[in-house]
Amino acid sequence: MQAILCPIQMTSNSTTTAAGARELTCVRQKIRHVVVAGHSDCKAMRLLYDLRKQMDAKTGSPLELWIKKNGWRTIEKFQYLKEENSFTGPVPYMQESENTKFKVTIDPGQQFNIVDKLSQVNCIQQLENIAAYPFLKERLSQNDLLLHAFWYDIHSGNVFLLSRERQRFVEVNERSYFGLMQEVKNRASAKILSES
Ligand SMILES: [Zn+2]
Repeated sequence: MQAILCPIQMTSNSTTTAAGARELTCVRQKIRHVVVAGHSDCKAMRLLYDLRKQMDAKTGSPLELWIKKNGWRTIEKFQYLKEENSFTGPVPYMQESENTKFKVTIDPGQQFNIVDKLSQVNCIQQLENIAAYPFLKERLSQNDLLLHAFWYDIHSGNVFLLSRERQRFVEVNERSYFGLMQEVKNRASAKILSES
């Protein structure tokens, strides 16, 4: 599932197309893994970055208004990237299952420009947005549904996976592959069986 900006769902009564699609795929079809995918050189993230200082202004083109409406939480998280931490954060990440908050360090190797860093922050925010959908909460809390974040660098072709153990995006390569897969398997096997 690709998701640049999942609409923020405030209440269980507000309905969006994205929410409907998510219910269809995640609840009705019993999908077990949901992947949020972001990428470098993202035009939407460039626009969000350019609008970051005027998020409260109610003016703009339809696209700008849409980006602002669904991107303000990403910008809030992005504020944790400051000059004094070399724009690496960390940014807080409220995990799906309770008692598991952690912080994600963004691009500790300083490989990417500021818009790409924002794009990675956005991936983390999208995980939180998806986890806020009421119809997913139960399955998420039981580890029956697992959320993942991928980030793709279109220049090098490298793919990064958000590692909860290492609290950062880790490049998927021959060296990291086994550890990353083991981490996913551990999460998947930690499924809590419901009583019903
Ligand atoms: Zn994009």
